[in-house]
Amino acid sequence: MPPRILDGKLLAQTIRREIAAKVKEHTDGGAPPPGLTAILVGENPASRVYVRNKKKAAEEVGIHAELVELSAEISQRDLLEKIAELNSHPAVHGILVQLPLPKHIDESAVIHAVDPEIDVDCFHPENVGMLVAGHPRFYPCTPHGCLQILMRNGIETAGKEVVIVGRSNIVGKPLAMMLAQKKTGVNPAGGDATVTIAHTRTANLAEVCRRADILVAAVGVPRLITPEMVKPGAVILDVGINSVEGKLVGDVHESALELASAYTPVPGGIGPMTIAMLLENTLQAAITLDG
Ligand code: NAD
Repeated sequence: MPPRILDGKLLAQTIRREIAAKVKEHTDGGAPPPGLTAILVGENPASRVYVRNKKKAAEEVGIHAELVELSAEISQRDLLEKIAELNSHPAVHGILVQLPLPKHIDESAVIHAVDPEIDVDCFHPENVGMLVAGHPRFYPCTPHGCLQILMRNGIETAGKEVVIVGRSNIVGKPLAMMLAQKKTGVNPAGGDATVTIAHTRTANLAEVCRRADILVAAVGVPRLITPEMVKPGAVILDVGINSVEGKLVGDVHESALELASAYTPVPGGIGPMTIAMLLENTLQAAITLDG
């Protein structure tokens, strides 16, 4: 049987419609619209596309979205001051600072500067700590997108062997935590799976990956995952977004996808799900702050 394509674009549309209905309910009750401010520092063309897509998606569901564009030469102090100003603005329920930042700015200082209650990317250490403790305030957007695409396609994670290739703070590490955690009332995206994290120093990567019932590639190396790394019938989530000769490709080679029972395409897989989860976090922050 040919593999099932897990269409993240279509699912994200459904989730965005659900969010739009909840935003309407929130504002019909007299609350101001949720507000999301994206901060873009410098001229990275990929970052510009990402923030524009996020702003457009937010506006479509009734979230008031602002884009703050700052020069690549801005000092760290001025950037932190801008974040402090936005933190105390009552109409701002979510702030995201698009990464990467120019080299002279300390990414960690910026992540620490965002008020955890409106840290809709879930990068602040307080929010990471709450996630790890099993009492999340927010779920980080890309890992949550991965979990939602599995859950809403009826793909069970409990008791499954999951291998995640990549251990970044944005994708691999938090996703591993979420998949390994117990599903509870306060942690509905707990995956109850048995999780292995593979990375640059993993010995026998192919052998480790072949254990996976669910294989996640979050690496940033085009077509790294080849057929000998895939157990036939595995579910593959390809988080990678790589530009190769002007074309977007994932971290999984096309020939490896053929062995899967289901996979997320690139583009149109995890990317749109990530944006939908950002909107959900912004709505959630607005409901928490404005009631
Ligand atoms: P990163 O560079 O921070 O981390 C990459 C990880 O991959 C590292 O932990 C490293 O140990 C591991 N790695 C690198 N080369 C490897 C190799 N040869 N073998 C095994 N492990 C290796 O990247 P990131 O921010 O986690 O992003 C990963 C990919 O996902 C990128 O392509 C990025 O563009 C994409 N991404 C997509 C979305 C989305 O919404 N779809 C969101 C975030 C990131």
